[in-house]
Amino acid sequence: MSKFSNYNFSGKKALVRVDFNVPIKDGKITDDTRMRAAVPTLKKILTDGGSVIVMSHWGRPLKEIKKDPSKDFADFTLKRIQDHLASLLDTEVHFATDPVGNEAQLKAAELQTGEVLLLENLRFTQHEEGGDRDFAEKLAKLGDVYVNDAFGTAHRAHASTAVIADFFDADNKMFGLLMEGEIDAAEKVMNEAQKPFTAIIGGAKVSDKILIIENLLEKATDIIIGGGMAYTFFKAQGGKIGNSLCEDDRLDMANDLLKKAEAKGVCIHLPSDSILADKFAPDADTSSSANTEIPDGWMGLDIGPIACDTFSKVVKESKTILWNGPMGVFEMDKFQHGTKTIAEAVVAATKAGAFSLVGGGDSVAAVNKFGFANDVSYVSTGGGAMLEFFEGKDLPGIAAIRK
Ligand code: AMP
Repeated sequence: MSKFSNYNFSGKKALVRVDFNVPIKDGKITDDTRMRAAVPTLKKILTDGGSVIVMSHWGRPLKEIKKDPSKDFADFTLKRIQDHLASLLDTEVHFATDPVGNEAQLKAAELQTGEVLLLENLRFTQHEEGGDRDFAEKLAKLGDVYVNDAFGTAHRAHASTAVIADFFDADNKMFGLLMEGEIDAAEKVMNEAQKPFTAIIGGAKVSDKILIIENLLEKATDIIIGGGMAYTFFKAQGGKIGNSLCEDDRLDMANDLLKKAEAKGVCIHLPSDSILADKFAPDADTSSSANTEIPDGWMGLDIGPIACDTFSKVVKESKTILWNGPMGVFEMDKFQHGTKTIAEAVVAATKAGAFSLVGGGDSVAAVNKFGFANDVSYVSTGGGAMLEFFEGKDLPGIAAIRK
C-alpha cells in the first residue's frame, strides 16, 4: 500500500470510498460532519492536480423499500448531497445515476483535473453489500488509484470497501487521511497502550459488549463497567436490582467474565451505587441506593455519587483510556450526571498527558452533547467498525488495502 500524504495525484483519477451516510430530513442534510471529515482527503487529491470519483452508500435502500413500499429510490439518492459537496469542495461536482453504467464510464473518462464525479448510492443493487467481484471490477476500472476513507464501513467486506482493492496494485491503493487517523488512534490504544490502561465500557446490554470486554482483558489494566449492563453483573452475584435492565440469560457469562479478569489480574470496577428512577422517563421520581439493594419498583438509570468518585479517580490515574458506551441514560437530564462526570475525568486525564480514544455511537454522542469532543485525544467516527476492531477482529476494509 502507499501512504496517502506521500502520493502525488497529479493527472490521476482517484476512486475514493467515503462514508456520506449523513442524516437527511425533508431533503436537507441535518448534520454534515461525515462529509466535512472527508474534505481534507478530497482536497489534497484535487490540489495535487488529480480528479476524484466519489463512492458512498446511503442508508439501506433495498431493505427499507421492501419494508415500506411507500418509499422509493428517490428517497435514498445521493443526488441530494451533490450541491453540498460542490460547496464544500468549491468545485463542480458531476453525478452518475448508475455507478457502473455507460454514463459513469463516460463521465469518469472525461473527468478533468480538479473535477469531481459523484456516483449514485452504491447500495441500489445487491452487488455492493454482496461483495460482487464483477461489480467491484467495473468500479475499479473507473479510476487509476483507490483510496478508502470510509472507516465506518471498514468492518464490511463489501464490493467498494474491500473487494475492489484486489484490482489495484499495492502502489495504487491506500487509506485516506480520515481512515489513517482512525487506524493510528485505534492501533495506538490496542498495540502501544501505556499503562495504566483503562477501558470504560457502558451502554445498555452486556451481550453487545462481551467480545470487547474479553479482548480487553488481554490488554487493559482496569475495566470500568457502567450503564445498564452493570446490573446483570450485580444480579449474577446475588444482588437485588429492582426493575433495572438485566439480561437473565447472561448471568453465568457475567460471573465467568469476573473470574477471568481476576485470573488475569485485570481490575474490574463496577459502580457501587446508582441513581434510581421509578419509571423510564425524563420526569421520573428519583432516589439513590447501593447497587445490591435496589428496591422493587425502582430501576438504576445512572451511576451514583460514590461510583462517580471511584471511577473518576481510576480514569484520572490512567495513561491510556478507551471509552465505549455511556454510564447511564445520558439522553435524559436527570440521568446524565454520571456520563458527564466520567467525560470530565477523561478530559482531565487527557490534559495530564493520557491518550484517550472515544469510540462507539453513544459515547461519541455524549462527548458531543457535553462539548468535550475537542478535549479528548481522538473521537472515532466508526461505531461498529471501532467496536469490531477492539473485539480483536480483522477489519476487511483495512486488510484489503494492506495485503
Ligand atoms: P449501547 O448502544 O449499548 O452503547 O447503549 C447505549 C444506550 O444505553 C443509551 O441510549 C443509554 O440511554 C442506554 N443506557 C445506559 N445506561 C442505562 C441504564 N442504566 N438503563 C437503561 N438504559 C441505559
